[in-house]
Amino acid sequence: MDYVSTRCSEKRVESARAILNGIAPDGGLYTPVSLPTIHSSQLTLLRTKSYEERAAWIIGSFLTDFTSEELADFAEKAYSRFDTPAVAPVVRCSDNTHILELSHGPTCAFKDMALQILPYLLTASMKKCGITDDVTILVATSGDTGKAALEGFADVPGTHIIVFYPENGVSDIQKLQMVTQSGENVKVCAVKGNFDDAQTGVKKIFANGDFAAKLSEHAIRLSSANSINWGRLVPQIVYYVSAYCDLLNNGTIREGEKINVCVPTGNFGNILAAYFAKRMGLPIERLICASNANNVLTEFLETGHYNAKREFFTTTSPSMDILVSSNVERLLFEMTEHDGEAVASLMRELNTEGSYTLSAELTERIRSVFSAGYCDDEATLQCIRRYFDEYHYLADTHTAVALAVLDEYRAKTGDDRVTVVASTASPFKFAPDVLRALSDEPCAQTEAAGKLSAISGADIPAPIRDLAGKPVRFTESVEKDDMLAYVTRNLIG
Ligand SMILES: *Cc1c(COP(=O)(O)O)cnc(C)c1O
Repeated sequence: MDYVSTRCSEKRVESARAILNGIAPDGGLYTPVSLPTIHSSQLTLLRTKSYEERAAWIIGSFLTDFTSEELADFAEKAYSRFDTPAVAPVVRCSDNTHILELSHGPTCAFKDMALQILPYLLTASMKKCGITDDVTILVATSGDTGKAALEGFADVPGTHIIVFYPENGVSDIQKLQMVTQSGENVKVCAVKGNFDDAQTGVKKIFANGDFAAKLSEHAIRLSSANSINWGRLVPQIVYYVSAYCDLLNNGTIREGEKINVCVPTGNFGNILAAYFAKRMGLPIERLICASNANNVLTEFLETGHYNAKREFFTTTSPSMDILVSSNVERLLFEMTEHDGEAVASLMRELNTEGSYTLSAELTERIRSVFSAGYCDDEATLQCIRRYFDEYHYLADTHTAVALAVLDEYRAKTGDDRVTVVASTASPFKFAPDVLRALSDEPCAQTEAAGKLSAISGADIPAPIRDLAGKPVRFTESVEKDDMLAYVTRNLIG
């Protein structure tokens, strides 16, 4: 299977190269030239398999330059660290609402689904491309990605990882998760600035040719683990197929029955994976994109107008606080039937004007598959309360956005088809806000998880419970102009 950049249909590369490069030389995103298909006979077979086996099969249908033995081994290693053998279990909430729990990995958020397997895909890709250098992953994080990348790359041979986070821009628990990270090959550093400062600093290091040459003398190569890498997207297709198999197995749906999927969305990676699953032939009718007050995608999917020039809100679902959703570019590429020039022109417009508008025809094509909605913080907290009271389901703030949007969609359309809702984080990861939804009593931040456990009867996941006892390993913070010096000092002395 070959991959092309979303901005030019000419240059094709194999999957190992696409994963190694991350972003295409023309600034576009690697996307498969054609999509593999899932026939009902294959679903019948996958129904009998474990999550790891389903993963190896589906990932293998995209990464054709990897052997099935390699992928089985990677999937086994990556998903053995999850706290349930189901890996991504589907939990029944009501007859037609089923929650796909993606937060059973080591950091209790859905980024683990891809970042636990990416290190294996990346190191194998390097070997396939004949590169023997060590790879150093540089990450600027606003919270969840940094920790998930640290957990994924910690002690993976041939790799190092350095994570920069904004000194005052992450939550206490997110910071604690990062500065207590174990592993001989990890470094975590605060930046005196906001997330944009950290991100800009990392981009500058990537763009520094002299530095790359110097690293190359020491047999080191830089790479990124961000969500535009195809190696992060493909493991996310797996759990939609897996959820469908599970719903067949427990008798919720009949063979061939179409379901809807509702996803709390930020960078558009998770819902795009569901779209690819649909295109492969998985019986999905509609994709419902849920946003918080940063509702740029709601407007875009409904009207074809993408407008990033709007007020930015900090919400109780911070992992969805995004105005430029990178993976929309892949959707445009698919919807224009791989018209790289059209995509490049829209992305140029977004870059220079901060907005673009699709043709009526293209907008209609998107609307025929996607629905969209959004809700504010107050509605989010109300939704947490309602689902707990009515179904005894404890949702985190991100998942609650999706549930609220789904309820509204059903009321508006009357479409009450069986729906899989992606749950992207453990409620204990956002305990203070979730608790606020359930109880009026004031509570200290540090006690929130314990109190939430007492009220709900659910156990605090081990990775969060054990944080308090862990030694802090990283206390350094640097000025934003000193990030390069920090990387140099830590990589080549
Ligand atoms: C990253 C993240 C999202 C958004 O997912 P995208 O693939 O970026 O759309 C939603 N919820 C949580 C908890 C996340 O960490």
